Amino acid sequence: MKKILVTGALGQIGSELVMKLREVYGNDSVLATDIRKEDCEVVHSGPFEILDVQDAKRFSSLAREYHIDTIMHLAALLSAKAEANPQLAWTINMGGLVNALEVAREHNTQFFTPSSIGAFGPNTPKSRTPQDTIQRPTTMYGVNKVSGELLCDYYYQKFGVDTRGVRFPGLISYVTKPGGGTTDYAVEMYYGAKENKAYTSYIKSGTYMDMMYMPDAIHAIIQLMEADSSRLIHRNAFNVSAISAEPEDFAQAIRKHIPDFQLSYDVDPIRQAIAESWPNSINCQAAKEEWGFQPKFDLHSMSEDMLEKI
Ligand code: NAD
Repeated sequence: MKKILVTGALGQIGSELVMKLREVYGNDSVLATDIRKEDCEVVHSGPFEILDVQDAKRFSSLAREYHIDTIMHLAALLSAKAEANPQLAWTINMGGLVNALEVAREHNTQFFTPSSIGAFGPNTPKSRTPQDTIQRPTTMYGVNKVSGELLCDYYYQKFGVDTRGVRFPGLISYVTKPGGGTTDYAVEMYYGAKENKAYTSYIKSGTYMDMMYMPDAIHAIIQLMEADSSRLIHRNAFNVSAISAEPEDFAQAIRKHIPDFQLSYDVDPIRQAIAESWPNSINCQAAKEEWGFQPKFDLHSMSEDMLEKI
């Protein structure tokens, strides 16, 4: 039986990933952990433990106690929060990752952690951004993500830890609200449309970024982790995306269902600067070829589903 430990399990990705993993592998196969505890499905549907990923000792003893064979490390500070407190971001994002990788090495587990389109920077080619390209990000989050990709590859090459990762775009979900990223506006727009038929965007009209619907993101994680190791050339981390869009594209997709939806702008210079340093659209060919990545939702099918479910 598989035994998976998920860190940051109450976050936007974790809360849906844990539920899907429990559906696929069984409730007891998935140990959800987070620095906090909430009254929610993730906590009640299977094992849950408080874990601060900075506490290496407890991390290792939980892995031993639960006979963990796979670690999915999601605990992190996201782009906007990391830029507001860069020192703390380095401590949590890098310190937590080193601890997680050490536990994986010590207990001989498979390992997954997400990178991000934030791992690219202003001098990265902006359109159809290749899998292997210039990565000189100018944000603390981006610096953490590039360092993380390199560190995961290092643990694979040096210690043989089976590390795998994806560069996620902005993820859109109706289950858990996002946790302080630059693409959060897209999720907020659907809620604004549903609640008030209006939304004020902090990202400028015409700013393209990659996005993906959460069910496709969760499926991609499981598919990558189950892929035949011998087919993987890249490992940390694969470009994955389904949609390249700017705020007006979301508004138009929403107006098919809510015709009088109003979009206005009040641009936040910090998040706008982060967005402008990221690609407009990334090339996912390597993920398609090496492990069969194939998202199901485009902007229109995602919008229909979001507006129906929120
Ligand atoms: P989130 O902010 O929603 O959740 C992060 C979780 O980590 C929270 O539940 C928080 O309580 C927990 N956490 C924070 N500090 C911790 C600590 N010291 N110890 C243990 N837990 C701690 O984030 P998310 O959106 O679920 O992102 C998960 C991962 O995916 C991150 O690595 C993030 O960079 C990456 N990612 C997310 C997106 C996105 O759009 N959501 C896009 C690209 C990459």
